[in-house]
Amino acid sequence: MEQRAYQLMEHFGTLQGEGFHTGRAAYFLRLSGCDVGCIWCDVKESWDVGAGKAYSVEEIKALSEGFDFIVLTGGEPAMHDLTALTDMLKTENKYISIETSGCYALNGTVHWYTFSPKKFKKPHPEAYALANELKVVIYHPSDIAWAEEHAKQVNENCLLYLQPEWSKKDELQEQIIDFITRNPRWRLSLQTHKFLNIP
Ligand code: SF4
Repeated sequence: MEQRAYQLMEHFGTLQGEGFHTGRAAYFLRLSGCDVGCIWCDVKESWDVGAGKAYSVEEIKALSEGFDFIVLTGGEPAMHDLTALTDMLKTENKYISIETSGCYALNGTVHWYTFSPKKFKKPHPEAYALANELKVVIYHPSDIAWAEEHAKQVNENCLLYLQPEWSKKDELQEQIIDFITRNPRWRLSLQTHKFLNIP
């Protein structure tokens, strides 16, 4: 049966802090549940699939009123059948972006697919074809070489971003900037919302 309600750990309007759409007003829907297990995850409370509260598609339509850019995040949003949710958002003329580890095949349709692979669980092959941006969180210098391995597999239009993990940004900054200046297809993504102290 089609999924008509979604467990949201939180939902809020703010600015998109990361990647290509940085600075854009956005309504975030943080879906509960994640089994990827990143050690540096800053939303571990979202791992529980029962965290937060269930909202019907109609309730989410009311919540996101006034925003034309919607970010589906988690947790791991692609764990869920997003069809009913994305159908409603499209009918409402929203631009839909998803932030995913790519570990699950996507059920639903989006305008923007942010593929953020994690070392802790292998991505689904379709993530490389769907990705509009590849955003790799750099926690250790060796992660840059790991990012390059993924960049070889994404589609040719995919944008490439390296993003220092927040607690490591000072120590990794020099290596990341040096790499990007030598490999200009890559860009830098910063968690600007954390600098601004906004959600
Ligand atoms: S995929 Fe995202 S939500 Fe899941 S553990 Fe990793 S950082 Fe946390």
